[in-house]
Amino acid sequence: MFKKIFLFIFFLFVAYNLKSQESDLNHVSETFHSISSHDILDYAKNLSSPEFKGRLSGSPEFLKSAQWVASKLEEWNINPLGDNGSYFQYFDNPYTEVFNSGSVSYIYKNQNGKKIVKDYRFPDEYFPGQNSGSGTIESALVYVGYGITAPELGYDDYATVDVKGKIIIMESGLPVAKNHPEIEKWVPYDYHQYKFNNAVEHGAIGWLYINKLANPNTSYHEEIVYAHIGEEEANDIFDVSGKDYQKVKESIHKNLKPNSFALQGKAKIKAETKHYKNSKSCNVIGFIEGVDPEFKDEVIIVGAHLDAVGNPGKLLPGALDNASGVADIMTAAKALAQSEVKPKRSVLFILFGGEECGLLGSTYYVNHPKVPKENVICMINLDMVGNGTGLALWGGASFPEITKHFMEANDNYIHRSMHASKARPVTTRPRTDGAVFTMNGYQSFAVGTTNRVKPVYYHHPLDNVDALTPEIMEDAAKLLYLGLLGVANDVGLKSVR
Ligand SMILES: [Zn+2]
Repeated sequence: MFKKIFLFIFFLFVAYNLKSQESDLNHVSETFHSISSHDILDYAKNLSSPEFKGRLSGSPEFLKSAQWVASKLEEWNINPLGDNGSYFQYFDNPYTEVFNSGSVSYIYKNQNGKKIVKDYRFPDEYFPGQNSGSGTIESALVYVGYGITAPELGYDDYATVDVKGKIIIMESGLPVAKNHPEIEKWVPYDYHQYKFNNAVEHGAIGWLYINKLANPNTSYHEEIVYAHIGEEEANDIFDVSGKDYQKVKESIHKNLKPNSFALQGKAKIKAETKHYKNSKSCNVIGFIEGVDPEFKDEVIIVGAHLDAVGNPGKLLPGALDNASGVADIMTAAKALAQSEVKPKRSVLFILFGGEECGLLGSTYYVNHPKVPKENVICMINLDMVGNGTGLALWGGASFPEITKHFMEANDNYIHRSMHASKARPVTTRPRTDGAVFTMNGYQSFAVGTTNRVKPVYYHHPLDNVDALTPEIMEDAAKLLYLGLLGVANDVGLKSVR
């Protein structure tokens, strides 16, 4: 008799659980299907609009875009976890306003002694320096290779040339490959700021930096005027001096020896800018607290940079980089907040400022965390997630117990090709907010898109919403919603670390 009653109760229990599991699945599926590419594209469109002027971190327009994102989080009842009960975590972020594209010319004498003035065109042939001083400079040109002075490595690009009062032509990057055995010793010389400061110390008055894109991740020097050019323009200038630009560059790499020299002709660079050295920027931080007392202290962080590269003479909308990642996260955050199935663990959303200025927002966050680091399960970064037909978990293969929830979500609901790679140690200059977390001891991976279907206009005026694939953004947001919920509710997941 007792056995029968027990069996009956057991049966009821199983039936109840099956029923509630089924209704959970229905609820999740409902929320999943409420995610639409229309909303996602609207967010990306709004972020990319002229109103926010390219979201240059530190600028008033960036702060406006941060306010807009925060207003959406508030609308969806996602709690603020910034400073003083707000969504905003502020940090210092000097920036330079570039009023127009300025000009870049190369002036030389041809074989017949005739003066030629070659005016380069923006944005095809040059970009204005986003931390250039204001003014016009004109001077003789000196090529300084990578612009590195590293006595401990026996390497000095300035050893044989005098650049005082001159305009230099300088490479970005390093003369060694990423897999060089001593790469770690070289990394400090990879920073644009280092190269700029070193050029100033050697007395250059300005430069043409071979790195043709908008880039605010540089240092400002009031007296210095500079611009970015491409390799084609360098070719052009070298030609006049009877030099082969590609061969010169190759020789530096091959011999790991500087190859610096004066060039024929002069350059003229004009810039109109204003520097704001005391400006502040912010991260936008929202928090969904887990509902299970046993698990809610454990936190999953999801981040994407909100800032882009501004409007240096033309709007750089920053749609793929990175309105796409922000729109994906906003959508997943809304879904998770409105999901009838609540997460047991907590989820922290960070929309970073200052990424393009040198990872300022993520660096500030890891130094001033809002939840204890030891409680964080992982940090998931999204950067340029909106062009292609496939999905990827970069670095995700190193954390299979976490990423299996993303794999399962894709297998069961999304059905895209999905790739997971192993995390690599950061040996070079960190280039993403995720790398900042990795370097600070967090488990971190990135959600990305693969199999590009449109050209990528990186830091370029054409990075607008036409450069996006809304369908893959919808699926990335869906993947994020299901993956986050899966990790948050996995009671079998070994407690953090
Ligand atoms: Zn980016």
